[in-house]
Amino acid sequence: MVDRQIVERGVEDGAVIAAMRAVPRDCFVGEEMHEFAYDDTALPIGEGQTISQPFIVAAMASAAGLRPDSRVLEVGTGSGYGAAVLSVVAGEVWTIERIAALADQARARLADLGYDNVHVVHGDGTLGLPEDAPFDAIIVTAGGPAVPDALVEQLADGGTLVIPVGSETRVQRLVRVRRHGGDLVEEDLGPVRFVPLVGDQGWTRPP
Ligand code: SAH
Repeated sequence: MVDRQIVERGVEDGAVIAAMRAVPRDCFVGEEMHEFAYDDTALPIGEGQTISQPFIVAAMASAAGLRPDSRVLEVGTGSGYGAAVLSVVAGEVWTIERIAALADQARARLADLGYDNVHVVHGDGTLGLPEDAPFDAIIVTAGGPAVPDALVEQLADGGTLVIPVGSETRVQRLVRVRRHGGDLVEEDLGPVRFVPLVGDQGWTRPP
C-alpha cells in the first residue's frame, strides 16, 4: 500500500511514510471490510461516514509540515486512523468527532492499540478546541463551505491548517492556510472529495 499508493504518488515526508507503514489500517475498519483495508480507497465505517483513502491521509499529514513535538488538532475523528498516523509523526494529538458513537469507538480502539498521545473529544470541531489551543497544525477531514474563523484563530504562529473547502457538500479543493504572525497565506493544493463538515462554522445539517 505505502510504496504504490503513497511513495510513487510523490509523498516525500519520511516521517509520514514511516507512520503509514506502522499503523495497521485493518484495525480501524469493521470485520466485513478487512479484505479491502489496504486498497486505494475510502471505506464505510458506519453512521454514513468513511475512513479516508490512505493517500489523502499521507498527503494531508505531509502538507501540515509536522515535527516530532507538534501539537495537532484533527477535526473529524471517524475511525481514528488519521489520528493514529498523526500521533506517530507528531507530539500530541487532539481529535474531535461530532458523532458520539464514532468518537467512543475510536477512543477505545486507539487506547487498545496503545496510541496514548491522542485525546478523542466528542463535539463540534468547526469551533476547534479553544482550551487546548494554539495548535502547530490543524487538519480537517471533512469538507466545509469556508475556512472556519475559529480554527484560524487557534493556529500557532508558524502553524498550518489543512482543510477541504467547497460550495458543494461533497466536492472540494484542499486548502492550506499558514499563519506568519498576523499574516495568513492561503494555497490551493488541488481537488478532493470528503464527507461534509457539519457544524456551527460548517454545513448547517447532515445531507
Ligand atoms: N479522519 C477520519 C476520516 C473520517 S470522515 C479517519 O481517518 O477515519 C470525517 C468525519 O468527520 C466523520 O466521522 C464526520 O462525522 C466528522 N465530522 C463532520 N463534521 C464534523 C464536525 N463539525 N466536528 C467533528 N467531526 C465532524
